[in-house]
Amino acid sequence: NAVSYSRRRVVTYQPAMRAEMERRTIVENALARAIEANECLPHFQPQFNLMTGRIFGVEALARWYHSELGWISPSEFIPIAERNGDIVSLGWKILETSCSEVQLLPSDLSLSVNLSVAQILSDDVVAMLDECLGRTGLPASRLKLEVTETTLMSDLRRIQTTLVELRSLGIGISLDDFGVGYSALSYLTDFGWDEIKIDRSFATKAVKDKKIRDILKMVLGIAETMGSQVLIEGIETVEQRDVLVDIGCTIGQGYLFGGPMAIDDITTLFFSDHSKSTLAGL
Ligand code: C2E
Ligand code: MG
Ligand code: MG
Ligand code: MG
Repeated sequence: NAVSYSRRRVVTYQPAMRAEMERRTIVENALARAIEANECLPHFQPQFNLMTGRIFGVEALARWYHSELGWISPSEFIPIAERNGDIVSLGWKILETSCSEVQLLPSDLSLSVNLSVAQILSDDVVAMLDECLGRTGLPASRLKLEVTETTLMSDLRRIQTTLVELRSLGIGISLDDFGVGYSALSYLTDFGWDEIKIDRSFATKAVKDKKIRDILKMVLGIAETMGSQVLIEGIETVEQRDVLVDIGCTIGQGYLFGGPMAIDDITTLFFSDHSKSTLAGL
């Protein structure tokens, strides 16, 4: 009957849900201390010119190794950090560390760092960036800040004003994960993005669907009009790369070329044999 049915459901659901909640609590409680103790560090994913095969930049992506829990994925701890506010201290740590570490690489390489909405909305964001560049010695022209489309939805006016100020320091501004969420055409045209990053779901869809390829061509056209460069994320296969190059994409990142790696590994990649770094993909 209905009562025993619903009771049974409760019994089967609870352990999994409780385990999930306990895990979240453990991660949340460990996070602030881990940030403080520099356990959350940037790894770097190379970004490639699809035509020449040269690396032109890297994106810093937060990585966390916990002594008992092992590697904890950003898809787990970033949403927690965004909810409880730890994303602000995490974000500044990742920025500072990546700005110094990237200087171990050749000086023409750019560095992209993800900037959370809470960081952009903090009053001292421009001063924080300015001071970080001063302390680490990284030229502003080498730094790009990535903001996601969803960030723009929280307070477009205020965020645009801040982004203009950051740009006036000489920092590049990139629109991340474009095409998912509520992509409005005005997001592309109301602000002078230095770069637009097309969400990785499009790398997969472009291969199968001509309509998607046509839409990408349209975005490339708008970006060209606006003077923004377009980077395609999540290129995993040679077929995807070829299709994307064919419609006019010139830069990208993805597992085909290399995933996020520690600074030592990316340095080795550079200085040992640069041609090998373009191996799998090009
Ligand atoms: P994102 O900024 O869009 O970064 C790209 C994500 O795609 C990374 O996941 C990267 O490892 C992954 N990726 C790269 N190439 C491929 C590919 O070929 N195939 C697939 N399937 N995935 C690929 P990750 O490192 O797990 O980071 C997830 C998200 O967490 C990032 O998405 C970013 O939004 C956020 N995040 C990471 N680090 C930071 C940080 O320091 N600050 C802030 N605010 N957010 C961060
Ligand atoms: Mg990003
Ligand atoms: Mg992205
Ligand atoms: Mg993302």
